[in-house]
Amino acid sequence: MPSFSARGSPHKQQQYQRRRQEIRQQRKSLPIASVEKRLVDEARKNDTLIIVGETGSGKTTQLPQFLYDGGFCQDGKVIGITQPRRVAAQTVAKRVAEECNDQLGRKVGYSIRFDDSTSNATRIKYMTDGLLLREALLDPLLSKYSVIVVDEAHERTVHTDVLLGLLKKVQHSRANASKNGKTLPDVLGHSQNLTQKSCQGSRCAPLKLIIMSASLDAKCFSDYFGGAKAVHVQGRQYPVDILYTYQPEPDYLDATLVTIFQIHLEEGPGDILAFLTGQEEIESLERLIYERARLLPPESSKIWVTPIYSSLPSEQQMNAFKSAPAGTRKVVLATNIAETSVTITGIKYVIDPGMVKARAYNPVTGMESLIIIPVSKAQALQRSGRAGREGPGKCFRLFQESEFDKLVDSTVPEIKRCNLSNVVLQLKALGIDDIIDPVGHQMARLPLDPMYSKALIVSSELKCLEEMLIVVSMLSVESIFFSPREKLEEARAARKGFESSEGDHITLVNVYRAAAECLEKSKNANAKEKTMEKALNRWCRENFINHRSLKHAFDVHSQIQGHVQQMGLNLSSCGDDMVLFRRCLTAAFFLNAAMRQPDGSYRALATGQSVQTHPSSVLFRTKPDCVIFNELVRTTQNYIKNLTRIDPLWLAELAPQYYATED
Ligand code: ADP
Ligand code: MG
Repeated sequence: MPSFSARGSPHKQQQYQRRRQEIRQQRKSLPIASVEKRLVDEARKNDTLIIVGETGSGKTTQLPQFLYDGGFCQDGKVIGITQPRRVAAQTVAKRVAEECNDQLGRKVGYSIRFDDSTSNATRIKYMTDGLLLREALLDPLLSKYSVIVVDEAHERTVHTDVLLGLLKKVQHSRANASKNGKTLPDVLGHSQNLTQKSCQGSRCAPLKLIIMSASLDAKCFSDYFGGAKAVHVQGRQYPVDILYTYQPEPDYLDATLVTIFQIHLEEGPGDILAFLTGQEEIESLERLIYERARLLPPESSKIWVTPIYSSLPSEQQMNAFKSAPAGTRKVVLATNIAETSVTITGIKYVIDPGMVKARAYNPVTGMESLIIIPVSKAQALQRSGRAGREGPGKCFRLFQESEFDKLVDSTVPEIKRCNLSNVVLQLKALGIDDIIDPVGHQMARLPLDPMYSKALIVSSELKCLEEMLIVVSMLSVESIFFSPREKLEEARAARKGFESSEGDHITLVNVYRAAAECLEKSKNANAKEKTMEKALNRWCRENFINHRSLKHAFDVHSQIQGHVQQMGLNLSSCGDDMVLFRRCLTAAFFLNAAMRQPDGSYRALATGQSVQTHPSSVLFRTKPDCVIFNELVRTTQNYIKNLTRIDPLWLAELAPQYYATED
């Protein structure tokens, strides 16, 4: 019998040892490493602790390990670390699992909406702040956690802000329970119909709370927690040369492209990090870079583009952390995730067009939209700081110096500029306000925007939940249709096959069903998983469908289906009765209705805003009298996306509380 070594060949073993050594060295060299003992001591002494440290100092990856080694996971307790972004939770958990020399999902795991890698063995758990809020619904004392680390608190996302409020309460309740030696009281005035798990044992240990921030101003957090102790971790920063443009840049995407090649051809070695606002910009710039690189002489064409944004599959996200082969320059195209949430090594040049996509809410009109706005000074500084992590660097700001002075100092907390319905529902469901009806409760448990949750409940009543479930899944992912610039005509022709003259929602249902049929066929032919995957991939290519988005939609679909089944909703289909389905869409999305105006534009009924149909809509040319829509995008104009033609009379009939006409 041949013998096998568990560790593989001597060469592999050597490689493995080298990697372990490298990781040990890297960990030791982080600024936070020198204060490990102090941090653990402070965490023992203080129930609430604030840790401030520059991006890259090692807060996110190291602190949870320090706490673990410091004995904070005794009795099977878990250290939870929240992140505002999914990508950060995923990539950091992977990195930390590797640092711990363990597989992801054992000691270290992550849990984000629609993707959970944790197991019973998990002790260091990275998750999104939204997910922890949801967990608090089921376990109001968060009893399995010994410590909650709220990371990136400086970002002030709605979830983070709400979470801080909630954690303060949980901490209080647990402290009381612990003092009185009691088992779990009915905290937060929590309604009885939710499951309550008690803390293990008869006593409830206090909850440790650690707030981490990259902004030097910790005072607001400290004040909020009654003067909590703040510890500053010294960072390491090399000088960064800041360059501005002489003129305003009308097209920042084009300016980014030009700057990338300017650096590539004229500057010394070092990787480039460019900040863009979203997936579409990143994908199109990636294509343009490769197109242009092909025109260069072979010795200077070596460029490797690695995108990183939240909906990118995680294996591809990880590329951004790998080093490029010798002689190749890595260009990382990132959203503001790379500002503070994740640290990418090797960056020497930063390109900052000065823009960011942000949620905006108009409380007068009740409309929420995603808009592209200038960054704040604090963001611009964070971005330029990324160039000076390992040595002196350069930051190219694609705007004039005079513009910098006009930027706001720091971003307005999201809670002041978004639609709070989701949060309010969650808070209500958490018993913070006990006026809550059964529908609200069901909705708060679905991992969806309330409008989508409501749509599912309404459609179950109207017997077309099957179709609505597909629509909600397809709307929960990034663009389904793939239209490369060089093949626009072909892409259009392919889409024709799915188009419904009734609008985009039914078109999406058609795409989903056709894809499901393709999978079904190969399943019936007893194909292996890999073959099925290939068949679907081919089908997507032929039909100009974004394979990644579609797979994500399938995944979301199966998860929401699980939820609605648990809720006991009726999973029936309306068959061919598309009038019924459109009526259902109207009942669900009545707030987003728009009427055509004589000049061909539309008027959003709830707000009176003037809007245009987005060119991507199948109704772009037909322009029906009345539509409901799912998304308002504001670029140069207000565009409405994902439209369905409806009868305006349905509005008064199906949403009389909103549209009833006076007789
Ligand atoms: P902070 O939270 O203070 O900004 P992090 O703990 O995120 O710092 O990062 C500390 C260091 O860990 C980074 O400078 C980088 O060298 C390394 N690091 C973090 N994530 C990864 C990763 N996914 N792959 C490789 N190195 C990483
Ligand atoms: Mg961090």
